[in-house]
Amino acid sequence: MAYATTNPYTGEVLKTFDNATDADIDAAIAKAQAAFETWRDVTFEQRGTVLQKAADVLRENKRAYAETLTLEMGKLIGEAEAEVDLCIGMLQYYAANAAGELAPRFLPAKGFGDTDVVLVNEPLGVLYAVEPWNFPYYQVIRIGAPQFAAGNTIVLKHASNVPQSALKMEDLFRKAGAPDGLLVNIFAPHSATEKILADDRVRGVALTGSEGAGASVAAIASKNLKKSTLELGGADAFIVLSDAEIDKAVKWAVFGRHWNAGQVCCSSKRIIVVDDVYDEFVEKYRKGVAGLVAGDPMDDQTTLAPLSSRQAAEDLAKLVEKARAEGVTVEEIGESVPEEGAFFQPTILTDIPDGSDTSQVEFFGPVSQIYRAKDEDDAVRIANSSPFGLGGSVFSTDTDRARALARRLDTGMVYINQPTGVKADIPFGGVKRSGYGRELIDLGLHEFVNQKVVVRT
Ligand code: NDP
Repeated sequence: MAYATTNPYTGEVLKTFDNATDADIDAAIAKAQAAFETWRDVTFEQRGTVLQKAADVLRENKRAYAETLTLEMGKLIGEAEAEVDLCIGMLQYYAANAAGELAPRFLPAKGFGDTDVVLVNEPLGVLYAVEPWNFPYYQVIRIGAPQFAAGNTIVLKHASNVPQSALKMEDLFRKAGAPDGLLVNIFAPHSATEKILADDRVRGVALTGSEGAGASVAAIASKNLKKSTLELGGADAFIVLSDAEIDKAVKWAVFGRHWNAGQVCCSSKRIIVVDDVYDEFVEKYRKGVAGLVAGDPMDDQTTLAPLSSRQAAEDLAKLVEKARAEGVTVEEIGESVPEEGAFFQPTILTDIPDGSDTSQVEFFGPVSQIYRAKDEDDAVRIANSSPFGLGGSVFSTDTDRARALARRLDTGMVYINQPTGVKADIPFGGVKRSGYGRELIDLGLHEFVNQKVVVRT
């Protein structure tokens, strides 16, 4: 694993970076600790000013920030700009709301008679953030904005294929007037996790990524008695009931499965359609997917981006071959994608046997699993048979029915009549093998604060 920018559209290696040494890591933690010692006492208003300034810098330079994303991990330029907008929204959310959401809470406790019991939220200190490449800015801001608002500081280990995005995030807070050390990027190897989490100055870790990375980092955190939050993979169910508006469901399914080239933890990966409308849905879905245009992600006309790397495309191809070997029907859709770069041919999987490996894994790319459900109960059964529990969606014209079904899904999020979304002011997170902890709004703010009780008798 070496840190490098490789353009997924051309395959060209553009820039490489050396791994951090032990001395670099020590220096990074020391810098983040020094920043914490002043930042913890800064008012919410002053912290909000820094967050707002970071939002302003992003807004004023949106295109330049977006181009780095497209260059490093290949996403469509329009989607890259939307990611920058999302970051602006999160920064502004915490600039406006952190003070209220972390305000001291007076408890109506009667414990000792005439007592005052107040719960205050105090920052913990330096956090370690391990982030993935699929939303290189969003993932950093989603943890950074609430934690900076709460008074914590962060040492960041970003994915090895997005080093320039990582540096841009570090530089963003410098430009926003934050103390040096509020966000410190390190090009850390995996092996550094032991050293970092054993360091007393590091008080917790937040990781977004694969189950393997989550399990490894969380085990090291728990060995060191440090808190962790994990936002891992997903295989969101996209349930289409017989009373759904089929055209609308098809449109959203094509989008939900293919935005960010299908590399989203909450993509609509398992489309579950009840028998009555299955044939109509699949025929229209096939046409919708065939309409995607693969090409240069910098071109506004392109609607299907390459994957983040050749390796990702090869790994996905292996999963599809395993599915074929399990008896799954594999159908490649649309015009052939370019051979150069990390493109993956959109693929539809049907006839997926119950309990097969295919039904249990996450396809991180433009591969749609489609299941035929006998009825609504069967759709819930299929949806809950996944080891993941991130998001999900239900399509129906009967809102009460959809809400009732939403309660039966074993996931952290359910969206009605749209795919699982990502918004600055809606919390995010899952259950089962999708991880634990919640990000955004006040839930994200409370993950790494000391909720200290102060009792006056
Ligand atoms: P990884 O989980 O390997 O990478 C995510 C981050 O974790 C990266 O910064 C990576 O660093 C780091 N990491 C990985 N393993 C370790 C470890 N043992 N110790 C410390 N840090 C570690 O994701 P991949 O890029 O390999 O993608 C593979 C799969 O992960 C996808 O197919 C998908 O299922 C899932 N995924 C889910 C995401 C989500 O949003 N929930 C996002 C990305 C991936 P480095 O890059 O240096 O290896």
